[in-house]
Amino acid sequence: MKKLLASKKKLFSMVGILSFAVISISSISFATSFTGGRSSANFNAYYDSSVSKNGYTGAYDTARSDWNAASGSVNIGKTTSTSGNPDRYYVGSTATSGLLGLTTPYKTTGGVAGVSDKWAYATVVIYHNQMQAYGMNSVQKTSNATHEVGHTLSQAHPSTSSSSVMKQGIQSIGVQSYDKQSLIAKWGN
Ligand SMILES: [Zn+2]
Repeated sequence: MKKLLASKKKLFSMVGILSFAVISISSISFATSFTGGRSSANFNAYYDSSVSKNGYTGAYDTARSDWNAASGSVNIGKTTSTSGNPDRYYVGSTATSGLLGLTTPYKTTGGVAGVSDKWAYATVVIYHNQMQAYGMNSVQKTSNATHEVGHTLSQAHPSTSSSSVMKQGIQSIGVQSYDKQSLIAKWGN
């Protein structure tokens, strides 16, 4: 897994923000928040039909409400329209063992954005077949969705001893006090 992550790490800023089941032992540590991201944390999410088809509507709903409750400046709504640059949530499958999710930001000018760029919107996919392969329960799946939605709010993988839903690996937690502080530091109270 370590080798796998190392080979994927270079793609970090080019194809998106990868989230693995197994925590890598890496010298690279990220800041708590990305310097880039959306211009505000008040935006909508559009659920692709793959979400309900695979039974993840509740997981994404909980993820949004958990983050929304952490800051008055954060409000990820839900829309049935793809107009107005909503984020787009998906449930998919991947051949990459241990890859639980992927958030890909897009620039206002089109094309994939880096974590220091301004984002127009992001796509989020969580991988059903990998969650099944790791025997993850519904709480762990929801935690995975919360982690990915955290990336859409410019939350990075932190190197901290504190509990954080933004750490990589399989977890059974929602937004923690560390995450709330990081969110408020980025977006305001
Ligand atoms: Zn991640």
